[in-house]
Amino acid sequence: MIRWILAFFLAANVAAAQVSVDPERTAVRDGWWTLEVKLGLSQITPYRVFTLDQPRRLVLDFEGVTFGAIEPLNVLSGNRATAVRVGPLRPGWSRMVVDLAEPLVIAEAGMVTVAEGADLKVVLERATAEEFAASAGAPPDPGWEVVTGFDPQVAAQLAESEDFVVVIDPGHGGIDPGANQGGIKEADLMLVLAEELAVMLRDLDGVRPVLTREGDNFVPLSARMTIARRVGADLFISLHADALDEDEAQGASVYTLSADGGSDAARRIVERHERGDLLAGVDLSAAEDRVAKALMDLARAETGPAGRRFADALVSSMRAEGVRLNTRPRREGQFAVLTAADFPSVLVEAGFLSNADDRAVLASAEGRARIARAIRDTIALMAR
Ligand SMILES: [Zn+2]
Repeated sequence: MIRWILAFFLAANVAAAQVSVDPERTAVRDGWWTLEVKLGLSQITPYRVFTLDQPRRLVLDFEGVTFGAIEPLNVLSGNRATAVRVGPLRPGWSRMVVDLAEPLVIAEAGMVTVAEGADLKVVLERATAEEFAASAGAPPDPGWEVVTGFDPQVAAQLAESEDFVVVIDPGHGGIDPGANQGGIKEADLMLVLAEELAVMLRDLDGVRPVLTREGDNFVPLSARMTIARRVGADLFISLHADALDEDEAQGASVYTLSADGGSDAARRIVERHERGDLLAGVDLSAAEDRVAKALMDLARAETGPAGRRFADALVSSMRAEGVRLNTRPRREGQFAVLTAADFPSVLVEAGFLSNADDRAVLASAEGRARIARAIRDTIALMAR
């Protein structure tokens, strides 16, 4: 039984290349006793493959691969796999996640050179639930535990500075697109809003904005908080515009952490966000009790009240800016990104992509500017 496979080739020209996937040579299908995953690549490239439990998934990471032409539904057949997702993971790396209907362990995996480029073949064999559990687990990340795009020296300087460091967290990204409605992806839109907000914050004296992601990359929820911790965040603002199928789901609202689960709507959005991590292939086995632990921390932290004061002030400021507000604009929920005890944090639901009016507002520069100005003005008060 193979636990996981890491294959790194040390040729520099390989690592920098753009590798494409040929849909004709790509398939996820049942064998007699097996599940076979085949990927036709334009050239050989570093990759890794492993399985995760709860739910059972096969994860394949590739360096330099763009999945452009691949329609996950078209490559999938048979019953042993139920879904395939592909997308960017972090700069230079992308991921394929295959949901498994039964316990299947990796029996063989290999990449070979062929006339068209390279073929990756992974064969999984039926196993017991116990065997699967024993073989599942993410390999050590190849330096990924370090936050990407962030020079540790720059982070240390920020952390030591007298400046008021505002960490802006554009929700979702990469293989986790978030809500997707009317041709708009939550991940893309929140990145735009985050960048526009950062430009405004840079004009404030003594305020330094930091983004948790600067492109269409996947950043696990826990890593977002690690970034905030590294740069010595004085405030953490997570930006979202989710989709919910209900009448009250319109207009902006500001969330802080609740000791209980919060409202039904909050619970559903929380679930969706945690599922983003799960679907993207994050190993949550070690992180399960983090909410409970953080809630205990919350009881003795001073950051809770500061976050709630900020949230209250932000709602007033949004009202003054004429932002379309939810009927209950101040809300609470058990969001993982709000569980830090060492800095105040809020989650701004800028509107709902499931609502056509909200979507129109968020798609317009002026609609986003109202929200950004309200956040900026509230920070200006708090940072003084
Ligand atoms: Zn979201």
